[in-house]
Amino acid sequence: MTQRNTVDTDVSATTKTLKVALLGAGNVGSQVARILLHDADALAARTGARLELVGIAVRNIDSPREVEIPKELFTTDASALVRGADIVIELMGGLEPARTLILEAIDHGATVVTGNKALLAVDGPTLYEKADAAGVQLSYEAAVAGAIPILRPITDSLAGDKITRVMGIVNGTTNFILDAMDTTGAQFADALAEAKRLGYAEADPTADIEGHDAAAKGAIIASLAFHTRFALADVHCQGITSVTATDIAAAKEAGYVIKLLAIAEKIESTDDAGAPTSGVSVRVHPTLLPREHPLGAVRGAFNAVFVEAENAGELMFYGRGAGGAPTASAVMGDVVSAARRLVLGGPGRTDSTIEVLPVLPIQAVSTRYYIGLDAADQPGVLSKIAALFAENGVSIETMRQTVHRDGNVKGGPGSAELRIVTHLAGEAALSATVEAINGLDVINSVTSVLRVEGV
Ligand code: NAP
Repeated sequence: MTQRNTVDTDVSATTKTLKVALLGAGNVGSQVARILLHDADALAARTGARLELVGIAVRNIDSPREVEIPKELFTTDASALVRGADIVIELMGGLEPARTLILEAIDHGATVVTGNKALLAVDGPTLYEKADAAGVQLSYEAAVAGAIPILRPITDSLAGDKITRVMGIVNGTTNFILDAMDTTGAQFADALAEAKRLGYAEADPTADIEGHDAAAKGAIIASLAFHTRFALADVHCQGITSVTATDIAAAKEAGYVIKLLAIAEKIESTDDAGAPTSGVSVRVHPTLLPREHPLGAVRGAFNAVFVEAENAGELMFYGRGAGGAPTASAVMGDVVSAARRLVLGGPGRTDSTIEVLPVLPIQAVSTRYYIGLDAADQPGVLSKIAALFAENGVSIETMRQTVHRDGNVKGGPGSAELRIVTHLAGEAALSATVEAINGLDVINSVTSVLRVEGV
């Protein structure tokens, strides 16, 4: 009878050693160090090589660390560390010296694993090209949605399928804020203050609330899903700062929830001569989703990515989008995968760029829209508004009216709140409709214009 081992292979037979350099020992880096040091046998069994942590580059060797790490591993000479490594794990964050160190690692033929979404957003294409040219692997699972395995499923598991659309809640801070507004009725500023108090938002939350962080991740997801390199500048980006408690309440009443989504979508159309063409829209904006949509159930600071593919249909990936240990899990997935390749041989693969799809402007995207209006409560208002929609070729799906008899009104004894959801409409037609409605003397204000997805 054969005895089952509790590990995948016989560790004692593992003779190869791979030198691992860690750059950074903060929230994520310290957890990666812990896994490398404490789970060395299991990692050796899974990779076929011992992963030897040869050093950890930090700014200040004496800073207190979240986990116990032998002092002799720390160094301030990151460059020397990189030059002697087989695998370089960059978890410093920021643009420099991370970029220079990653380029040095690639030059030395080292495999690179990073979680640095800010750097990839700005300089990803250069780094991918350098890695490709050098035949080394550059992996960055941790840069998108923290612990959630999403990049490898897109590049490997779905490699035999055709992805048509990816929609992700990829920023925990904004999901926390929008969820708090939805749950408690709080205004944006109060929900942001709460997020800061609980440590979900940084002192300067701009990158999160303006959508830049989600846009960086959207560019990465789109590049991998559609085999074309997209940069941050290709992403249409709108944050959540203008979402009001009234928008959230109105959405809720109509059966929707507002989420900040990063959406990457392949759009098929025809050119002027009628020939089929396709392009990709990558966009980040507050979006109304039906409350029963799987992404609608993503609460607090959690992340989730919803993938639609031709054959697989709909898939949902859900989990923690940040945090030291969760993010370290994603980093270690890349490290183990890279180590296996180094043991077995074969060229390093970064991303596939077999297609060159154009980036479509936001004007090329058709969605449903939600429009909130503050109007005079007078006879004939609804028909005037409906006529403008019809004139601009935008079809109304639902229109709800709530009358406020005691309101301060421009043109009558009371005001009415109108909430309109349209059928699919193009950006240009919708903008023309909104402009025309704004010009009506019975309209006090257009209170919101938001896209609706997932219907
Ligand atoms: P962090 O806590 O700020 O840690 C940064 C580490 O890098 C520190 O150990 C710091 O050294 C070191 N470092 C920074 N600049 C350096 C320099 N010039 N020379 C040498 N060492 C330097 O960062 P983190 O939260 O762990 O994030 C690391 C990366 O993971 C970032 O790219 C981040 O975007 C990404 N990420 C983080 C999360 C998360 O939940 N935190 C999630 C996904 C992705 P000292 O300790 O001496 O200051």
